[in-house]
Amino acid sequence: MALLEVDNLVVKFGHRHGAVTAIRGISFSVERGERLGIVGESGAGKSVAAFSILDLLSEPGFVAAGHIRFDGQDLRALNSEALRQVRGQRISMIFQDPMMTLNPVLSIGVQMIECLKAHRRISTSAARDIALEKLRLVQMPSPEKRLDQYPHELSGGMKQRIIIAIALLLDPELIIADEPTTALDVTIQAEIMQLLLDLCSQQHLALILITHDLGVVSQITDRTLVMYAGRIIEQGPTKGIINDPQHPYTQGLIRALPQQTLPGERLNQIPGSMPTLEHLPSGCAFHPRCAYVRARCDSVVPGFTQAGESLAACHMVEDLVKDPGAVLIETE
Ligand code: SF4
Ligand code: MG
Repeated sequence: MALLEVDNLVVKFGHRHGAVTAIRGISFSVERGERLGIVGESGAGKSVAAFSILDLLSEPGFVAAGHIRFDGQDLRALNSEALRQVRGQRISMIFQDPMMTLNPVLSIGVQMIECLKAHRRISTSAARDIALEKLRLVQMPSPEKRLDQYPHELSGGMKQRIIIAIALLLDPELIIADEPTTALDVTIQAEIMQLLLDLCSQQHLALILITHDLGVVSQITDRTLVMYAGRIIEQGPTKGIINDPQHPYTQGLIRALPQQTLPGERLNQIPGSMPTLEHLPSGCAFHPRCAYVRARCDSVVPGFTQAGESLAACHMVEDLVKDPGAVLIETE
C-alpha cells in the first residue's frame, strides 16, 4: 500500500460568479521513502494540490471531490483534532516563507519545545533534548546557543535549517516542502536541498517537493509530476522526464532552463502564459501555447499515453505512439 494516495482530487475556489476549479481531477501516490517532485509554472496548481492534502487551503478554497488516503486512512473523513494529529506527527509541511512557521516573538527553543509538548506527554527537559538532537541533525552550528535566539537573529539559511528541524521534531513519515529555498541565494539553496536529500535518505522519509525549478527536481527526486492548469500533464521517473520529456509543455520547461542557453543568449521561454482559472482553454489547456496543436486539441482533453519512461497527456504523443514514423511538423 502506498503511503499517500490521492485519487481524482478536485479543488474549487468559491467566487462571486460561482466556483472556479483550480485542481481538475488529479491522481498520484507516494511510496514510503520516495521523493516526489511536483513542477510547473506558477498558477499550475502545485501548492493548491499540496495544501489540500492537509486541509490547509485558505478560504475560499475547498476540496470538492476525490479521496486522500494516508497509510490507508481517509484524511477527508477525519475530524479537525484527528487531522491535527496527523498533521503534526506523521506529515509535516515546510513552507516557502519561514515566517509561516516561526513566531517572531518566541525564542527558537520555546517554539520547538511547545511544538513537542502539544503532541506528546513529555517533560520540558526531555523536549529540549529532542530539540537539540534535531538541530544537530540539520547541522546547525552551535545548537545550544540557537535555542535562546529569536528568528530575527538568524540568517535566511539558518532559519530554513530551523524550519527543517521543526518539521523533523515528531519523526514524520512524509514531508511536504513548498518551494522551500526560493527566498535564499543560490549557494545556500543548494546546501539546504542537499541537506533535505540526505535527511530523507537517512531517515527513510517520503518527500513531496513543490518547485518551479526542474534543476532542483533532478537533484532531489525519484519521480516527477508536471502540472499545467490544474492537471497533471506528464509523470514518470525524474531521470526520464529530464532526459527524454514527452509532453510539449515539459519539453518547453526543459528548453527554458538556464543551462540549456548559451551565455548572452536569450532564455528560450515558452511563448504565452499560464491561463487564469476563469479562462481555462477547452480541450488541452496548453493548446494556445503549443507548437504541435492538432485538430482535436481544442476540444478533446487528452488522456495519458505511455511514451518513453513517462505517461504524457497529449494528442501528439498519442499519434506518435500509434505511428512512430510520423514526421512532426510544428504548426507555427
Ligand atoms: Fe499540444 Fe495538443 Fe499535446 Fe496539448 S494535446 S500539448 S495542444 S499537441
Ligand atoms: Mg506556489
